[in-house]
Amino acid sequence: MQALQINVAPELKLAGQTSGRHLETEYEPIDLGTHKLVFTMPLTIDVSYVFDGEGFNVSGVLSSELLMNCTKCNREFKQRFSVDFEERFIKASDEEAEELDCYPFFGETLDLDRMVLDLLILNAPAYGLCRPDCKGLCPKCGADLNFTQCACSRHKGNAFAALEELGRLLKDEEEV
Ligand SMILES: [Zn+2]
Ligand SMILES: [Zn+2]
Repeated sequence: MQALQINVAPELKLAGQTSGRHLETEYEPIDLGTHKLVFTMPLTIDVSYVFDGEGFNVSGVLSSELLMNCTKCNREFKQRFSVDFEERFIKASDEEAEELDCYPFFGETLDLDRMVLDLLILNAPAYGLCRPDCKGLCPKCGADLNFTQCACSRHKGNAFAALEELGRLLKDEEEV
C-alpha cells in the first residue's frame, strides 16, 4: 500500500493557494468485525488542500469498488462507491487535534492515512443488493428466487391471502 502522504512545503510558504493531487493506492481488506471491506479496485483520492496560515482545509472525493454479499440472496457482487470529504488538518499533537475535531500534521507532510481509514469505516457501504429487484432466497427451502420458482411460493401466497381475508374481516367489524 502506497502511503497517502503529500509534501506541502510549497503550500506552507504560500497561504491561500489551493493545490490538488490525484492519489491512487491498493487497499488491504479492512475487518470491521460485523463485515469486511474487500476492495476490488485501487482506492483513488482526488484531493484539494489550502493552507490558511494555521492549518489546511482538505476536501475532495475518494472512491473505489467493494466486493459485497447481497443481503437478500447472499451472492457476491461488486459495488462502486464514493465518499465526499471536507476535513481540517492542524499543526498539533494527536490529542489537541482530536479535541478540535481535526487531524494533526507534522513538519511539511500531510498524512491522509488516518483520515482515509476513518472515511472508509464510517462511509463505505456495508450492505447492498446484487440488483435493485433481487428476489432473494426462499425462506423455506433456500432456493434462489432470481433463478427458480420453488413450490413453497404457493403456500406463501395462501398465507398472504389468509392475512388479507383477516384484514377485511376486521375492517368490516370496525365499520359496523
Ligand atoms: Zn441478490
Ligand atoms: Zn422454497
